[in-house]
Amino acid sequence: MEKICVAVRVRPSVSSESFNGAYWNVEDNRISLHRLHGTPISGLSYTFDHVFDESSTNARVYELLTKDIIHAAVDGFNGTAFAYGQTSSGKTFTMNGSETDAGIISRAVKDVFAKIQMISDREFLIRVSYMEIYNEEINDLFSVENQKLQIHESLERGIFVSGLREEIVNNAEQVLKLIELGEVNRHFGETNMNVRSSRSHTIFRMVIESKGKDTNSSGDSSSVDAIRVSVLNLVDLAGSERIAKTGADGVRLKEGKYINRSLMVLGNVINKLSEGVKQRGHIPYRDSKLTRILQPALGGNAKTSIICTIAPEEVHIEETKGTLQFASRAKRITNCAQVNEILTDAALLKRQKLEIEDLRKKLQGSHAEVLEQEILKLRNDMLKYELEREKLAIELEEERKSHKERDQRIREQQMKIDNLSNLVSFSDLDRNSNQDSARQSLKEECSESSVHQGDAFSTPCFRADPKAFVVKRSNYSTLPDYSPLPDTFSNVADEDTWQKMNKGYMADLDSLQMTPARKVQSFPSNDITPACSNDNFKLEVQQLKRQLEIATEEKNELERKHVEQIMLNHQLMDEISELQQEAKLIQEIPQRLSESVGNCKDVYEDILSIVQSFVSDRESSTAKLLSSTSDIGKSLFTTLETHFSMAMDDRSSSTGNNFLIQEQCKVLYEKLNSTITSLVLSETPSSENEEVRAQLCSCGNKGCTQGGETACWKEELSNELNTIKERYYGLEKELDHNNQLLVVSKERYDILEREFRLLKEDRDLLHQLVSDSSQKLSLVTEQKENVLKDLNTEVQRRKNLEEEIKQFSVAFASRQRSLMSFHSDIKSNCEKLRTQCLVSLPKSRGC
Ligand code: ADP
Ligand code: MG
Repeated sequence: MEKICVAVRVRPSVSSESFNGAYWNVEDNRISLHRLHGTPISGLSYTFDHVFDESSTNARVYELLTKDIIHAAVDGFNGTAFAYGQTSSGKTFTMNGSETDAGIISRAVKDVFAKIQMISDREFLIRVSYMEIYNEEINDLFSVENQKLQIHESLERGIFVSGLREEIVNNAEQVLKLIELGEVNRHFGETNMNVRSSRSHTIFRMVIESKGKDTNSSGDSSSVDAIRVSVLNLVDLAGSERIAKTGADGVRLKEGKYINRSLMVLGNVINKLSEGVKQRGHIPYRDSKLTRILQPALGGNAKTSIICTIAPEEVHIEETKGTLQFASRAKRITNCAQVNEILTDAALLKRQKLEIEDLRKKLQGSHAEVLEQEILKLRNDMLKYELEREKLAIELEEERKSHKERDQRIREQQMKIDNLSNLVSFSDLDRNSNQDSARQSLKEECSESSVHQGDAFSTPCFRADPKAFVVKRSNYSTLPDYSPLPDTFSNVADEDTWQKMNKGYMADLDSLQMTPARKVQSFPSNDITPACSNDNFKLEVQQLKRQLEIATEEKNELERKHVEQIMLNHQLMDEISELQQEAKLIQEIPQRLSESVGNCKDVYEDILSIVQSFVSDRESSTAKLLSSTSDIGKSLFTTLETHFSMAMDDRSSSTGNNFLIQEQCKVLYEKLNSTITSLVLSETPSSENEEVRAQLCSCGNKGCTQGGETACWKEELSNELNTIKERYYGLEKELDHNNQLLVVSKERYDILEREFRLLKEDRDLLHQLVSDSSQKLSLVTEQKENVLKDLNTEVQRRKNLEEEIKQFSVAFASRQRSLMSFHSDIKSNCEKLRTQCLVSLPKSRGC
């Protein structure tokens, strides 16, 4: 058991803006979020196997993180390296590299070939493929026509993508050229985050097969050894950012949804795997194509490394936190990698022979009888094994013959099973048609590649001997399926069906018989003859049982999904209602502001009327000033009210509103100025007395004359005017601030509305899925019932037949008994007659 190796890489910053609040600090293998003045923020510090800062190169990342996995792959261990992170954080840069700094893929390819050059005692065969998962469909990047490929699983091959083109390669340059061609077929799109953002997950795969070279002194080159087969996956994932942030819509939005969904499933799988073995329960590998393909790399038989790329900019802090949390969970996963060997019978025999030789060597010089006996025993075992093998081969031949005879009868059942599988595999509705087309393309491709490729490819250790390992494996490997085992494609489909059928559910035949039988003839009547053997019946019953098992399994699966979707739906509904409430509150803001403006206006008018009531002389300058101030204030409040009502009606943009308010302010300002000027003019004394009055006023107001009084008034008025002006500017600022608040609220509201719409779409989609699932569930249930009924009829029929056979045997036995007694009667009569004849003949002669 070994942990997955997890590293974080920080991309160099692309923005020239300095940090305002916080920044990511890298120290050894730790990354933490720091405040601007350098103190770390608690709870946001993470440790990984490696943390690469902005100055790190792809060469360093490869050396520390991936190199060991690549070398282990050459030695027969499965290996996977993948890059995870938000768009534009440097995933593709890490995997594919740049002109000056080659990425992990090309370094890995070169390293594999360099390593196998150094291994002189093994022969190698390398095959490569390149695929992308775009909108949950698997496309072949080496062959544009291979689209929507299916994932299969079998005991020998594990999980594999059928119909995927594989190229046999013999040097790194050839592989890099192929990758370049494949890159052209990748899906790219433009989002706010990254101009040439990859919109698909891509998986570059190398299958490395090797076999020890025969170094026997006998020089028997045809002897076979164990073959090592390892699969190396190098994965560049699509970006993990939120849809709202990318500003995606239309096709981009749809892509984003698929990307987010598959990454969500990846996150769920990682979460489950990071829990303890006891708590983890069901791991949802099958919920997305990505996790299904990466299944061996996640908690399975593979050495795995994950590089999580992050963007250092402050705007991406939330995404970065998400990526680091993903990485922390991934760190807890353990895998169990082992060398993958295919042991043929001959290889096993050869191993046993070697063991015997070993023992013999140990025995030399000593006379330990026990060891001698052990050798004999082993030899006997070996002979027995060989005999058994031959016997099995004969039995297999016989079995094949009888299988052919049964084929005709099974076909009808098979069709039923296929129908049922089609119905229940709700995510693979068009599977059959795809398989047909895949088969067709496979046939074409096989014939094509056998013409094009022939033996042109060879690994660096390739030998011209037609019986050599590489030649034999390459002949087989012209098939586009990645698995090295020489099965035909049609077997692939069968294996998959049978794989689906054996999921451990055991049907209880007795309980099935309790269902009332239906008088349906589900099998051709010519099948039903008393001669039909019990074995055939058992086989049929077994098939029906399996059929039932699949149906029940699929039904349970659908029910589980249904429950999950209902839960998700509830969750979404809760979120939607929360968002609706928030949106309502935001909508109410202008209304509330407008109400408070109305209240302020009332208070203002009250105050002014109270102040005016103190002024007795309506014609005095104070009264004039008060009335003019009242006008200005009212006009200001009216402007505010209009502004808010316009904002509420959304009749004009906020910039239009601002312009209107500024215009009105200008008018008010002018009005205020003219009032003040008129007031000042009315109070201004004649020019000749001005200096004396000014002197009188400045001499400390002692004994102010009429002119001095006016000057004082003037001063007071100008003070008041300044206060009003200040108040006016204050109000203007407040208004600006309110405007800004309103704009921000509006933006937030728009975003919330968009998210709400997205959630609604998601909910509708889920609704649709749920109703589809329910329909399929009812169909499956119906089918299941029919199968049950058929099964019961069959069982009943079988019982009847057995009864008939029994009766027939009893009748036959009694008939046999009566015939026997009849026969013995005749015999005894004959005997009697003969004795009588013999007695009477001498008598007559004597007479
Ligand atoms: P992703 O695949 O995560 O969407 P990319 O790998 O396309 O992001 O990176 C986005 C941009 O940042 C590219 O122009 C790339 O060259 C640049 N970049 C990313 N990582 C680095 C790095 N470590 N050093 C220099 N440039 C980088
Ligand atoms: Mg990318």
